[in-house]
Amino acid sequence: MYDDNNIFAKILKGDIPSHKIYEDDTTYAFLDVMPRSDGHTLVIPKADATGLLDASGQVIANCMATIQMLAPKIVDAMGADGFLIQQFNGEAAGQTVFHLHFHIVPRKLGQSLRPHAGEMADPETLASHAHIIRAAL
Ligand code: 5GP
Repeated sequence: MYDDNNIFAKILKGDIPSHKIYEDDTTYAFLDVMPRSDGHTLVIPKADATGLLDASGQVIANCMATIQMLAPKIVDAMGADGFLIQQFNGEAAGQTVFHLHFHIVPRKLGQSLRPHAGEMADPETLASHAHIIRAAL
């Protein structure tokens, strides 16, 4: 059951600030506040869905189109070498926010990831990364 009090629903409504990367009619992308690597971005649908199973195929396709467009630009902007897509379904899988989201995690050769939902990043650093990525779009 979708609960629209979740933090990403509040971000979509503009009730909570976010470091926006991109937005279109169906999707919204913003920086993860606890990034596993620099430029770690979350892509979410504007439609209500808790995870992969209660989203329509079209909603998932919209997210994938946004991921496919953004990921190479984020990689270039962050000077990374590749990217990882992560998507968690259910508490047992590590999902902590119950609005469907896809993680785009830039990867650099030889550099390990910070822990999932680990430490909060410095807001100025996030603002600077968001600015660099947006300028590359
Ligand atoms: P999940 O484990 O549900 O896939 O991941 C949720 C993600 O959302 C985590 O990576 C966490 O760092 C991130 N996150 C949690 N709260 C906030 C928030 O208020 N703003 C942003 N931008 N990210 C958040």
